[in-house]
Amino acid sequence: MNATLQKIYAKVPVPVQEWAVTLRGLQIRRQRYGKEFRRLLDEGLTRERQSEGQIRQWQSEQLQRLVAHALTQVPYYREIAERLHLAPGDFRSVADLPKLPILTRDGVRRNFARLVADGVNPKQLWLGHTSGTTGSPLEFYWDNPVVVMTNVVLWRHRACAGFKIGDPFLKLTGNVIVPLAQKTPPYWRYNRALNQLFLSAFHLSEDALPHYVEAIRRFGPRFMDAYPSTAYVLARYVVSRKETIPLRGVFTSSETLLPQQREIIEQAFACEVFDYYGLAERTVFATECEKHAGHHVNMDYGITELVDADGNHVAPGEMGRAVTTGLHNWAMPLLRYETSDVTALGGAPCACGRGFPLMTAVTTKAEDIVVTPDGRHISSSTLTHPFKPMHNIRESQIVQSEPDRIVVKIVPRPEYTDEDTKQLVTGLQERLGDGVRVDLEFLSEIPRERSGKFRWVVSRVPLRF
Ligand SMILES: [Zn+2]
Repeated sequence: MNATLQKIYAKVPVPVQEWAVTLRGLQIRRQRYGKEFRRLLDEGLTRERQSEGQIRQWQSEQLQRLVAHALTQVPYYREIAERLHLAPGDFRSVADLPKLPILTRDGVRRNFARLVADGVNPKQLWLGHTSGTTGSPLEFYWDNPVVVMTNVVLWRHRACAGFKIGDPFLKLTGNVIVPLAQKTPPYWRYNRALNQLFLSAFHLSEDALPHYVEAIRRFGPRFMDAYPSTAYVLARYVVSRKETIPLRGVFTSSETLLPQQREIIEQAFACEVFDYYGLAERTVFATECEKHAGHHVNMDYGITELVDADGNHVAPGEMGRAVTTGLHNWAMPLLRYETSDVTALGGAPCACGRGFPLMTAVTTKAEDIVVTPDGRHISSSTLTHPFKPMHNIRESQIVQSEPDRIVVKIVPRPEYTDEDTKQLVTGLQERLGDGVRVDLEFLSEIPRERSGKFRWVVSRVPLRF
């Protein structure tokens, strides 16, 4: 939602907001759940049961088509083809992929317009963003095929837990669905079109939580989609009341799921947690199955190579940096795109029988939770949203030492202006409320922890329960 619509939305009564949410749901249903989606989902469910060899063959054919398109229709790759004397015929299988150079985040930023295929109208595309918590934010165009395929892979994952389209489910992620100024229930909005109850991730205080629990029980959901930290706040509260809210499955994503979070969530909702991992770049999608032995890399979604510091492939089972190739975005293909994630691939096959290899835990930043003076628990993932449009920030970090103040450390780019400060502070204030002062601190670099890890949110304020 853009800023103007968001302002109007915040002012209208709850029934009108629910009507708006449902209308948006109808639009999503039309765009993403058509005949094509059903056909592709059936195909996808068959494919995950094929042998690794059969899937590799499928991957190679899809890659050949995409590379041929990129080398002839995308200015950035056309230039590479000329410079390196490459032709579509040079790419017969996945093994030929390293003939292309690695594409870095900076490379995407510098060549953004030239990565878009000839004749594509950007107005007909979606604009995706990364939060840029460990680097500066980036944007990408998504076309219809990649949006549909992302939905297919998402629903194939949900099928592991028996989730069917139309089953009642809860969503507890970053949507600003309930205005912060609202201090009384309902802290949720119902989307009739998708049978989905949106819970606000910004009102999770000890006073509000009993109302959440009551509303969830009334709704009678079967599944929940949440960030690990938001699900954890709710779960901890339910467990502290010595209760359970039985669900059939909880899906988590966007942050590293910590073992103690999984344990409490599974206890509170008396079901298993199915974690998944995807990138806004739409080049990789990895999903946990019912065996929970790691994340399956969905090979029909993208190709993942693991490389060492020199860009050479690491041996199977060894840790390496993920270099990823999306197989479905024709408008803006990303071939051999280097992510900031480090992982290992290719251990023993999973006991579930799926042909997709397992990725061991992705090592990314640890996450933390901001606690506001009025007792709301705010997940760091929800705070990433105001940073998404901030192109003039190279790096950032949020530090909370006392309940009523956060310090945002910023490494600015030369183009950074006061207007950026205004926009960022407004966005954060909308989520944190007036009770928290937001101070900015400008630095030339943000120091890492001794372990070398980078934590985007560092909160020294303990949880309330
Ligand atoms: Zn499995």
